[in-house]
Amino acid sequence: MKRMFAALLSLTLFAALLSGCAGREPVSSGKAGGFSIVATSFPAYDLARAVCGQAAEITLLLPPGAESHSYEPTPRDILAVEDCGLFLYLGGESDAWVETILSSLDAPAETLRMIDCVETLEEETLEGMTAQGHSHDDHDDHDDHDDHSGDHESHGLGEVHEIDEHVWTAPENAGCIARAIARRAAELDPGNAQVYLAAADAYQQEIDTLDRDFREFFDTTGEKTLVFGDRFPLRYFAEAYGLTCYAAFPGCSTQTEPSAATVAFLTEKVREEGISTVFYIEFSNHLVADSIAEAAGAETALFHSCHNVSRQDLEAGATYLSLMRRNLETLKQCMP
Ligand SMILES: [Zn+2]
Repeated sequence: MKRMFAALLSLTLFAALLSGCAGREPVSSGKAGGFSIVATSFPAYDLARAVCGQAAEITLLLPPGAESHSYEPTPRDILAVEDCGLFLYLGGESDAWVETILSSLDAPAETLRMIDCVETLEEETLEGMTAQGHSHDDHDDHDDHDDHSGDHESHGLGEVHEIDEHVWTAPENAGCIARAIARRAAELDPGNAQVYLAAADAYQQEIDTLDRDFREFFDTTGEKTLVFGDRFPLRYFAEAYGLTCYAAFPGCSTQTEPSAATVAFLTEKVREEGISTVFYIEFSNHLVADSIAEAAGAETALFHSCHNVSRQDLEAGATYLSLMRRNLETLKQCMP
């Protein structure tokens, strides 16, 4: 582990020198100089600033606009993890690098994993999906066939791979995570416990309203089938509202080329169900959604999974709540 960490550190130092990204300024918000919370990705960062921002300083490691599945920590990120009062991370396959860093620290960091705050579901391969070349397998650069992680390819339709890490996409889960962050911050920074817990109560009310509005929308429209010409990081959202979804790729897939069978299947679904809109997710070039929509005579629209935000969105004050509200408005326009 120590050797792996040393190798990782020298690699990231080298990469930082090459790309000149050593000067990348991490994004921070909340009370400067307050109790220090560091989050790997946007969902944890945003929930932490919602409930702890009045008394704590929250730092986001993943740069806005970056692809969250291919993130490499910089040496400064590693130091930030070491020095913070509370470190928040997802706990899924895409931030497996975190465990390597944590195990190498001399003093254990205080941590909270988002996947531990909720009831998790396993990642699912939906009917019609192009599943081979699943991104997590791309990290396995060894060819040891005795290793069970190499068995992913043999999984068939509907079989489970691993925990679906996109837990925040259900508003109810986002509320659970925010409450867990507030409770943990209250323990570690007891002087501000009341501030954190009161903020968590207020935030929970906003989450409850959002959840109720989505529920009302889906109950009223009666339309519960969504087609994504894209990755599908929305299993928790779909489960929360009893939706049937179809998509081109699994949630963390790095694939951009769906199989011909997938395109044909999704196009047929859109036609057959009279679906008006094919969705794509943030940072997608939406070529797949465009071609399905064109073939089926439908429109396309963005559904934001809140995996990460652009710098522009972040500077404009985008939050989990505002992005999910935007999704609700999009749904209302597409499914009147
Ligand atoms: Zn993902």
